[in-house]
Amino acid sequence: MVYVTGFKCFRCGRTHNPHEIEKLPIPRCECGSAVDAVYDYKSIQKVILRDEFMRTPPTHWKYWAFMPVKDLSKRITMGEGGTPLLENKRLSKDGRLFIKYEAVNPTGSFKDRGSSLEIAKALEFKKHKVALASTGNMGASMAAYAAFAGLECKVFIPDIVGREKITQIKAYGAETIIVEGDYSVAMKRAEEYVLSNSDSFLTGDYPWRSEGTKTVGFEIADQLYWHVPDYVVVPVGNGTLIWSIYEAFRELSLVGITDKIPHIIGVQVENCAPVVHAWENGLSEIIPVRTIATAIACGDPIDGLAALRAIRDSGGLAIKVSDGEALSARDTLARNGIFVEPSGAVAYAGFLKKELPGTVVCLATGHGLKDMYGLA
Ligand SMILES: *Cc1c(COP(=O)(O)O)cnc(C)c1O
Repeated sequence: MVYVTGFKCFRCGRTHNPHEIEKLPIPRCECGSAVDAVYDYKSIQKVILRDEFMRTPPTHWKYWAFMPVKDLSKRITMGEGGTPLLENKRLSKDGRLFIKYEAVNPTGSFKDRGSSLEIAKALEFKKHKVALASTGNMGASMAAYAAFAGLECKVFIPDIVGREKITQIKAYGAETIIVEGDYSVAMKRAEEYVLSNSDSFLTGDYPWRSEGTKTVGFEIADQLYWHVPDYVVVPVGNGTLIWSIYEAFRELSLVGITDKIPHIIGVQVENCAPVVHAWENGLSEIIPVRTIATAIACGDPIDGLAALRAIRDSGGLAIKVSDGEALSARDTLARNGIFVEPSGAVAYAGFLKKELPGTVVCLATGHGLKDMYGLA
């Protein structure tokens, strides 16, 4: 049932066996870098290359073979994924533009895809509690899934996160701890917590989450009848989403369902753009920056190297937009019926700045009701 053969380090390239990674409270390589799941693609090919797979409507768990779950009957689902791929000609330029509208997930952002898998892992490892650091959306998502599964949830939140998001996290009954400092400080606190509380499971941008997040990419290909778009434009915070989308397209081509990988475009906001900086300057490390918060203000992104690889290996681009451009993109999308929070409009703002010929998919990542900054 599980086709994972190992976890490969993004920085030093070392491959760990799954058992070795699964028993770590903080699932990372010794060198400190994030790791990436490697699968037995031949076996996956055997289970999915059936007509039935190609025909079933796209939903998150349709792609279970590409996720590290041991017992599918124990998975936790609240109907995440299966989100619409919207086309509105007024929003496009010369080519075709699709908006992948992730706001319609159960808690209003794409984070629910990763949470669904992380909760399945927490139950598999028989944990009673999940702990994480969050700038808001992931906290709300984990709090909901933990509550649904009957687990406790503890969220470490940087002191600059907006009130709506904290309210949503608390509504699901999670314990919230406001941390003085930015996301990196909150993350350190969450990691320290699980090290001294062995009944707790650390969630966040560790390998399970990105494996669950890949289903955004599978769905995009599936919804385009297995035609690969020319560009996919993605906002970058910790870099998990952009890496997962790239990885999804790479895996689809590895199992022979598609024959190319789209150019992946990463977009960050000017005052917190460490991945764009590394890309523009040809660096092989991410230089952390201090930041003020939005949903994508991650000064030292956990999956920063992975994001950089997704952009480089796909022949993509990394671009910056200003806060003003993000807000104006938010307003334009809303006036055409698609309401997202400012971070959720960053990809569309990036699309408006560049000439991208052919078919383009922009990620609209979080619901407008989550952060109504600047709206009267
Ligand atoms: C989490 C989030 C992002 C960024 O995703 P990463 O995986 O951290 O790069 C973008 N937009 C919204 C609304 C988010 O919640």
